[in-house]
Amino acid sequence: MAQQDTDQQHAGVLPVDDEGFVIDSEDCEERESAYRERGTSRPITVVGNPVLHKECEDVTEFDDELAQLVDDMFASQRTAEGVGLAANQIGVGKKVFVYDCPDDEGVRHVGVVVNPKLVELPAGKRVLDDSNEGCLSVPTAYMPLARPDYAEVTGQDEKGTPIKVRGTGYFARCLQHETDHLYGYLYIDRLSKRERKDALRQMAENEPRYPVVPND
Ligand SMILES: [Zn+2]
Repeated sequence: MAQQDTDQQHAGVLPVDDEGFVIDSEDCEERESAYRERGTSRPITVVGNPVLHKECEDVTEFDDELAQLVDDMFASQRTAEGVGLAANQIGVGKKVFVYDCPDDEGVRHVGVVVNPKLVELPAGKRVLDDSNEGCLSVPTAYMPLARPDYAEVTGQDEKGTPIKVRGTGYFARCLQHETDHLYGYLYIDRLSKRERKDALRQMAENEPRYPVVPND
């Protein structure tokens, strides 16, 4: 008798909790270093580079090229000492971001989101937090920016499995900041004219501590 084909359960890269959110706080060191060690660090694009100012393309192929991009993003994120990195920050206009970020309880989260969408939350869940924000693509500048202190993102992992990610505090800020990048927005686009100018002045006055792609 022939063995019957059974549909293989397509498990995601990360386990999920009772509510279907990825558990991205386990084995962080091992997972992050595995990505990073396979990858090559690339220079970071900075404000003014067109790739940062337009919506990135949806990812449709979950292939080796995407896996290599994710590895390179983790390597680049580590070199630049970032807590999150969007693909267009290394010059690739595809909707992918990676993160290695602590939440408001100091818990480290490591993961990948492809084709992210920010979930609109009811007003009651939106407590604004006006902590400082910075961006590897606006090197050395920091400005306070009010954002909700809780965020949920839907998307896919690097194998194409649908995922949901949620975060609090600094990690919530990171999820919003990185999703913004993939739609062509920098955090300085959310500042007042005067604050934006101040951020750009900070950037002009200091040297980045990691390789950047010069703007023409
Ligand atoms: Zn950024």
